[in-house]
Amino acid sequence: MIHYKTPAQIERIRQSALLVSKTLGMLARELKPGVTGLYLDRLAEEYIRDHGGIPGFKGLYDFPNTLCISPNDQVVHGIPTDKPFREGDIVSIDCGVLMNGYYGDHAFTFAVGEIEPETRQLLEETKNALYKGIEQMRTGRRVGDISHAIQQHAESFGYGVVRELVGHGLGRKMHEDPPVPNYGRRGSGKKIKEGLVLAIEPMINRGTPRIVQYPDGWTIKTADGQPSAHFEHDVAVVNGKPEILSTFYYIYDALGIASDEEDAYRKKPLILEKY
Ligand code: MG
Ligand code: MG
Repeated sequence: MIHYKTPAQIERIRQSALLVSKTLGMLARELKPGVTGLYLDRLAEEYIRDHGGIPGFKGLYDFPNTLCISPNDQVVHGIPTDKPFREGDIVSIDCGVLMNGYYGDHAFTFAVGEIEPETRQLLEETKNALYKGIEQMRTGRRVGDISHAIQQHAESFGYGVVRELVGHGLGRKMHEDPPVPNYGRRGSGKKIKEGLVLAIEPMINRGTPRIVQYPDGWTIKTADGQPSAHFEHDVAVVNGKPEILSTFYYIYDALGIASDEEDAYRKKPLILEKY
């Protein structure tokens, strides 16, 4: 069953989403060659608790950490380790926060120093696929329109769209109805209505869409060992249109990147707070 949110509930989800955004911005300053996932995980947990939140993943389905950290050929659900990151790695970081009874959940794939141009393009186009999906999140359209837009964009570059893992509704629970696959038919699935809140999250592989799971029961990697990217935003339907509740702008601020990619999906320009 889909729980449509009131404007007050959407505000609470926004606050949780923005604490995730600030956490990712803080991590963007720290992620360098030589740094480990476990170090980032500790920083993130401390940061979230200091700002009045609870790490959303830790303990959820018995996941052991605050962050899912999935480098290179890992797709999602990677468990932070003590292995240092190296120049040329890509690192997907997914983070959740529970605050005031509502979850935020979003993710970004970072480059550690210089990366291969083909991998740089995978990151760019996975993020573009996310925005293609967000663009479809309007009253009258259907969830399948989001799925289709993401799939079409990713596959136009020859990339593999992961089938087994999907986006989802977001609210009092981390994973609510409806599931939001990153592949599908236009005009299929549930109708999109006012107050729907989704975590839209393409997981796109440079090679085959096929995945395998590590014996740890969590980590998902690509079957062919090629890199995978993951970008996730939390989005609400407000006045019939998509409004992005999370933001990558803290990350861009940390990395010195100029971008206005989210501005079309926000009523008022976002003012970055100190973090
Ligand atoms: Mg996530
Ligand atoms: Mg999610």
